[in-house]
Amino acid sequence: MTTTAPATELTVEELREQTREWLRENLPAGWLEAVDADDRERMTALRRQLDYSEWCVRLGEAGYATPTWPAEYGAGLSLSPAQAKAVNDVLNHYRVPRPFNIIGLGMGGPTVMTWGTEEQKQRLLRPLATNEEIWCQLFSEPGAGSDVAGLATKAVRDGDEWVVSGQKVWTTLAHLSKWGMLLARTNPDLPKHRGLTYFVVDMHAPGVDVRPLVQITGDAEFNEVFFDEVRIPDSMRLGPEGDGWRVGITTLMNERVSLSGAGSVGGDAVGGSPVTQLLDRHRGTSDPLARQRLAQAYIESRLIRLNNQRAGDKRKKGAEAGPEGSITKLMQAEFNQRLQKLAVDLQGVRGVAWEGEELSAHYGERLGVVGGAVGDDDLEIVRGFLRAQANTIEGGTSDIMRNILGERVLGLPKEPDVSREIPWKDVPRSG
Ligand SMILES: Cc1cc2nc3c(=O)[nH]c(=O)nc-3n(C[C@H](O)[C@H](O)[C@H](O)COP(=O)(O)OP(=O)(O)OC[C@H]3O[C@@H](n4cnc5c(N)ncnc54)[C@H](O)[C@@H]3O)c2cc1C
Repeated sequence: MTTTAPATELTVEELREQTREWLRENLPAGWLEAVDADDRERMTALRRQLDYSEWCVRLGEAGYATPTWPAEYGAGLSLSPAQAKAVNDVLNHYRVPRPFNIIGLGMGGPTVMTWGTEEQKQRLLRPLATNEEIWCQLFSEPGAGSDVAGLATKAVRDGDEWVVSGQKVWTTLAHLSKWGMLLARTNPDLPKHRGLTYFVVDMHAPGVDVRPLVQITGDAEFNEVFFDEVRIPDSMRLGPEGDGWRVGITTLMNERVSLSGAGSVGGDAVGGSPVTQLLDRHRGTSDPLARQRLAQAYIESRLIRLNNQRAGDKRKKGAEAGPEGSITKLMQAEFNQRLQKLAVDLQGVRGVAWEGEELSAHYGERLGVVGGAVGDDDLEIVRGFLRAQANTIEGGTSDIMRNILGERVLGLPKEPDVSREIPWKDVPRSG
């Protein structure tokens, strides 16, 4: 089927067909057939033929990496969430390599679209979607994680520039990033939430020092980042001076949506494979407890999907990501830990001991694959189990999600915070 109608006017079925056709023309010949035949050997060989960087540019420029983004910024199809889901379903089905720029796609892009000037949108969105410019989020500090509004990294105005000094930590992908979403204190005389400003900082600027931290999986996924008098032009400020908290909330709300499984990143995955693959692998088990746990996992994964769908429907009507993202962020994080434990339990001894490769092998390949299995299944499952331990911490801990739900969804009284109304500089802190 060939159609010349704009993508926004196509039905969901037509979009699926158009996406399939585009993939057939652009992926190495035989890819679609190899996936449909579940021919893993052929899949691996075809993947090797693909130049990942070049592929991400092609996918992004065609609009398929960010189908809901406005087409006028050079990467996007201006689709509704329901239409975009049709595109994403096809990409997931055919295990299409996607940009690993997950922080940029899930949080940076939406924040720029909400708060950025026209010039910033034109400059930043296209290379973000094509994976040419990777993004990271510079919020957490050694003394400010859950209470991120208490952060100490400062930015001082100097003419048309800002001079930044301080330290961030747990900065995922900073070692690969071109841009960082930076929250910095620009007025220490105001209470903590009111003295912040939001910048997009060039991670290659003089004075930025990125030091990787190795995790239990052996991957060095996140970093410490030091700023020593780093200069940022005022044109890279996002939103008004002193309004950084509101801009940061846009980033955090979108982060919860990404981590809830509703975005392109998360989802009901075990070591990179969907829950259904775990079910398929153990469908024949006669162990009643294993059957019970598998059924429970399936039910929970459906519940999370339905909740995500409900939140998505709300956004479809024009609402921004709201506190409901905290419901599925909390559910997804805790569910994924149970799911990964189940996967390891069902692997038996192969889940705790193996020969040969390091756990961190295939890290580079894994970065490029969202929704498709890579490497050896046993290794992926072990790695998935270890990585899942971070789920209830990253993007806000489960305790913090419960606080948000209590206050903003259930309307319970706010948690007492004596530091909220006094100038930040007068708040007692260690160090
Ligand atoms: C894998 C991973 C990737 C990350 N990537 C990034 C990133 O890219 N960018 C970034 O900026 N940050 C990142 N983070 C940091 C993350 O956002 C913080 O770790 C998280 O917000 C918790 O902060 P903290 O580690 O300082 O813990 P703390 O805030 O010190 O919390 C310690 C404990 O106290 C509890 N607690 C704290 N305050 C309250 C409260 N008010 N009520 C109840 N309990 C409370 C917490 O739940 C936790 O159990 C990442 C973290 C991980 C694990």
